[in-house]
Amino acid sequence: MFADRARIYVRSGKGGDGHVSFRREKYVPNGGPDGGDGGRGGDVIFVVDEGLNTLIDFRHIRKYKAEDGENGGKKNCRGKDGKDIIIKVPAGTVIKEAESGQVITDMSGDNKRVMLLKGGRGGNGNQHYATSTMQAPKYAQPGQPAQELELILELKVIADVGLVGFPNVGKSTFLSRVTNAKPKIANYHFTTLNPNLGVVDLEGTGGFVIADIPGLIEGASEGVGLGHEFLRHIERTKVIIHIVDAAGTEGRDPIQDIYAINKELEAYNPEIATRPQVIAANKIDVIYDPESKMIEAIKKEFEPKGIPVYPISAVSGEGVKELLYHVYEMVQNIGEEITVFEQEYFPERNSGYSDLPYTVIYDEEADEYVVEGPRIEKMLGYTNLESEKGFTFFQNFLKDTGILDELEALGIQEGDTVRMYGLSFDYYK
Ligand code: GDP
Ligand code: MG
Repeated sequence: MFADRARIYVRSGKGGDGHVSFRREKYVPNGGPDGGDGGRGGDVIFVVDEGLNTLIDFRHIRKYKAEDGENGGKKNCRGKDGKDIIIKVPAGTVIKEAESGQVITDMSGDNKRVMLLKGGRGGNGNQHYATSTMQAPKYAQPGQPAQELELILELKVIADVGLVGFPNVGKSTFLSRVTNAKPKIANYHFTTLNPNLGVVDLEGTGGFVIADIPGLIEGASEGVGLGHEFLRHIERTKVIIHIVDAAGTEGRDPIQDIYAINKELEAYNPEIATRPQVIAANKIDVIYDPESKMIEAIKKEFEPKGIPVYPISAVSGEGVKELLYHVYEMVQNIGEEITVFEQEYFPERNSGYSDLPYTVIYDEEADEYVVEGPRIEKMLGYTNLESEKGFTFFQNFLKDTGILDELEALGIQEGDTVRMYGLSFDYYK
């Protein structure tokens, strides 16, 4: 089975926690803080492996986790960093967030290495929190939590030319005649379940890659039948060869068929419908009726619309060369640009901490207000308070979550101290 889609789970490493400890030396009763920092968590990294052509490996292994960073230790011992996880994918793999279907990155063209999820930062050990007034800090910074995501990987076959047409018009026969591909050919619908790729080796040219897009039937754009799975493969082709059965061997009307298929393409993605097309009027070897005006009728209908029509026989080979040279020319004129999908989903903005709990309390002993909990931890981990943007975000966070209201409700006054993990600040409205 041609594996062109997979769902996987990825998780970056959690940052190691900072450590709380104090030096213990002979004859020194109260040593200073010596809690080491936690190690950095491993990243989730995707790289293109030119040797891969399918997503088949992802059917067997669905979970990919980077290593957590180690916690800090005493004697300023820094925790070890977690190992990154490197996930190899074929070129042309589009990575999407599973729930929304939004694109995170498209591993095409020059985009060969992407750090998708950053590992958590390690927390500072208590050695960092000693100040002139606080010489024995009993807190250390927790490591930043891991991030996780469900992903859909989609491999878009990168072909220059896509073959479309109703079942049994001769797509597979054509592909096997003009390329090295060995598709299944049979006279019943939906035999070709996998998109077949082949290289057309045309004398005097650099050749091109052609893909048989099977299963394109009416209603495909609405997800009926196999259509959707396969329509995906056509998104990157530059030219479309539209094959029809000009002999009408199954009693079909070729002109109606062309319109029907184009309607499907357009419904799926209007941009595809604007790609240059060529019509291959196939099976001319079995047009026995010398009075048949089918070829003329197809030409008359489509050539004024700028769609050339080539009468061919995929079986005898008649007319095939002319068609291929014309298609090659069209591919050359379009050049090398490939559609690269834009990023729509940003993992760092959607790290999902809005569901996590937090608490706001008044610590009587210390005469401080304490705001803590997983949500606060996570927010602090992602926020760089030293940047102006980060600080604005932090202030908005306190307001939007209702933390400011809760502090007010607890009776906070201007100038009182608020503590959030290693951070303390004075409260001003
Ligand atoms: P697909 O469903 O579009 O891939 O069609 P196939 O390539 O499997 O062909 C369907 C049937 O049409 C097979 O029996 C082929 O042998 C036949 N066929 C394909 N091309 C030609 C042609 O040019 N002439 C004739 N006589 N039969 C053809
Ligand atoms: Mg076929």
